[in-house]
Amino acid sequence: MSSPRVTALNEASFVSDVYREPDLNRNEPLWMNDHGDGESSLMLRGIREFLNTPAGKVSGLVLVLAGIAIAAFSTWSTYGASTPSAPSKFTYICSETGKTFQVSSKEGMKFPVDSPFSGKATGYPATPCFWNKDGTIRSSPNWVLLNETKGAMGPTFCPECGRLVEQNPREPAPGERPPPTKAEYERQRMQ
Ligand SMILES: [Zn+2]
Repeated sequence: MSSPRVTALNEASFVSDVYREPDLNRNEPLWMNDHGDGESSLMLRGIREFLNTPAGKVSGLVLVLAGIAIAAFSTWSTYGASTPSAPSKFTYICSETGKTFQVSSKEGMKFPVDSPFSGKATGYPATPCFWNKDGTIRSSPNWVLLNETKGAMGPTFCPECGRLVEQNPREPAPGERPPPTKAEYERQRMQ
């Protein structure tokens, strides 16, 4: 006795049942349902109502502009400010006198650079050594001319502390093991 009409009706009522229930819950905006106490909902509603007043609209605009200004300033202070006032300077060492000097890098510069101490092109990029003879960390680095930098062979040992200096060393953390002295380095190589 199943008539197609009844089935269609049942389906229709089923469908409407499914959709009616959430409709009841949607009488209020979602953010009203999320809080038991309703306090934060009231605050949100207050903010919304305030933003709909002319004064609120102005405040909203001011907030947005302030946000843009802050973002622009932080970008400027990160990238812009340091560029004109402090061009990146690098420490160079004169291969004749062992004295160091600062040169700001520029495009097309030739190596070695002119040394103010020798008056000749004897300035090479210097490499920092962070160590003392006793294996403690120096308060400020000693600048070293690596054999590698001047095109010579063999490892470089710091003239100050006698320890191995390699290219691009990073600043050591307290308690870190110092690089080997020349004697230690050679002993390691023998093993
Ligand atoms: Zn050293």
